[in-house]
Amino acid sequence: MSITNRSAAPGANVHFEHYCEEPGCKEWGGFGHSPSKAIPVRWWCWEHFPYKTYEQEQPLRRKLEAAENHLK
Ligand SMILES: [Zn+2]
Repeated sequence: MSITNRSAAPGANVHFEHYCEEPGCKEWGGFGHSPSKAIPVRWWCWEHFPYKTYEQEQPLRRKLEAAENHLK
């Protein structure tokens, strides 16, 4: 048994890059959504993810407001 014949890491072709699909956004698309298994998953960063619930969005809104107040 040899361990030298490991040119490609297993699963390397499973990983694929998906950045936020918002035009101009360079963030990593960490939040995916697909309405059904037949439709490819679309990806967004958290700020652009359109399927957040109202409760989930509040911490982000507070963060943005705090940032805006900090700039004033
Ligand atoms: Zn984004």
